[in-house]
Amino acid sequence: MKKNNFVGWEEWISLPKLNLPALIAKTDTGAETSALHAFNIQVFGSNNQMVRFGINPITSDERFSIFCSAKIIDQRNVTSSNGITELRYVIETDIVIGGVKKTVPITLTNRENMKYKMIIGRNALDGYQISADKSFLQGELSFDSYKKAKNYDYRRSLRIGILSLEPNNYSNQRLIEAAEKYDHFCEILNTKRCYLNIESDKPEVHYDGKPLPHYDVIIPRIGSSITRYGMAVVRQFEAIGTFCLNSSSSIGLSRDKLAAHQMLALHQIPMPDTAFANSPRDTKHIVDLTTGAPLVVKLLESSQGKGVILAETKKAATSVISAFQRLNAPFIVQDFVKDAGGSDLRLLVVGGKVVASMMRSATEDDFRSNLHAGGIARKVRITKEERSIARKAAKAMGLNIAGVDILRSSEGPKVLEINSSPGLEGIENITKLDLAEKIIDYLERRLGLSKFVE
Ligand code: ADP
Repeated sequence: MKKNNFVGWEEWISLPKLNLPALIAKTDTGAETSALHAFNIQVFGSNNQMVRFGINPITSDERFSIFCSAKIIDQRNVTSSNGITELRYVIETDIVIGGVKKTVPITLTNRENMKYKMIIGRNALDGYQISADKSFLQGELSFDSYKKAKNYDYRRSLRIGILSLEPNNYSNQRLIEAAEKYDHFCEILNTKRCYLNIESDKPEVHYDGKPLPHYDVIIPRIGSSITRYGMAVVRQFEAIGTFCLNSSSSIGLSRDKLAAHQMLALHQIPMPDTAFANSPRDTKHIVDLTTGAPLVVKLLESSQGKGVILAETKKAATSVISAFQRLNAPFIVQDFVKDAGGSDLRLLVVGGKVVASMMRSATEDDFRSNLHAGGIARKVRITKEERSIARKAAKAMGLNIAGVDILRSSEGPKVLEINSSPGLEGIENITKLDLAEKIIDYLERRLGLSKFVE
């Protein structure tokens, strides 16, 4: 209900769709369209159809900023009262004056140090009479609503960077799609093109010759070819204070098969019996430490099953081991879990919950079920025990997102490996679940954002 028909030269208003519960605005009947004073105006989306911008809504606290995003409906030249003409983006949003809501176009302008964060033009003042000598005729709101999270739906548009060498791969594209659906700005940062300013007091990540702006979230998707450099880049973002979906140390731990197995053992998470030794003298003992042949020998640097060898006899195992030792290629030796029947389970853990699973089976002439090695994926029902082990394994590594590979053995589930950049293509296709959205949803919860309402 409209309180009265009068508005003064300044009024409290709110822009709920931009998550701005209270703003002091100046009325200006000389302007047709309302305007919002925004900074860091940045266009995004597949057709550049969205805009993200910052605003300092609290008059007395210029350091407090909120980032909003909205759909662009137009771009037009606007001449402001000081005679300057600029090309502005136009968005459409709800404005609430004295409890009455109206949907209006608003232009975004990047002017510094404006006392009023918003100018209410004629398009929002329809039906009101202006009392140019009075203030706040529609009642007062309070800036406290920004600070009291409980009374206010706290949402903002996040700036998300995905660290990856493959901008067009399925998982990255799906993450961008899901982020944009929830009004966040998301872009790919080529891990190799990030360089680090470590020495200064102010840690920075540079890109294309300039320091990168602040990112709220970094999603590391670090391939095994650049683990070390990727970890350094993630570590730098951590130093800046950016929330990284997986931390540098947990990526490093899960990538190092040996360290990962030691950590799993420490947490009493079942895995195939595993042995490691550095000296060629110990070859026989290593073989004896496991249950003997058949054995699996794995290069520590292996991924996608490329450095995994099945030695069917003790003789074969011994010669493979000595060959690797001579090459100085670190490896582990593991019991071959035959009863897994060439299949393994992939459980996707996000924020401590198993959100999806699938079974992968090797082709007839291989024992490795990796999809990259020609394995076939299908739907599977997982047991409570498998679910619980996957969660524990992700937790032991400290990973917020993890693909946990489990073998089904006659002795129960055994964890094979934990992947810190699990691919989404195979598992989304099999489960028909929107897993990219689940990841964005988790990020929003971690950063304390309230739910998105359309
Ligand atoms: P990578 O990291 O290179 O993918 P994995 O340890 O995941 O290496 O092994 C690749 C595949 O080989 C697994 O998905 C699984 O199908 C098979 N495999 C690996 N280790 C064993 C084992 N101990 N017993 C049975 N199969 C195994």
